[in-house]
Amino acid sequence: MPCWACDRADKNRASGYYQAGCAVCTARQLARMPRQHRMAAYVAERDKGGDVAALQQAVREQYEIDKRDGVAS
Ligand SMILES: [Zn+2]
Repeated sequence: MPCWACDRADKNRASGYYQAGCAVCTARQLARMPRQHRMAAYVAERDKGGDVAALQQAVREQYEIDKRDGVAS
């Protein structure tokens, strides 16, 4: 079940809402950040023992959706 911000993004991709703690929102937000912010997030994920590859994949998916829908990132 998507969070309310993901629900809004479904209807309007450019709405720009993100719900803290939602993995999809985090990936969507990271996909739109400057590269150095994204890299910092990957390092932080690794430092807390998270799955960096999964996070990168999720961000890539969100980036592709943005590109498909013509949302500037
Ligand atoms: Zn969400």
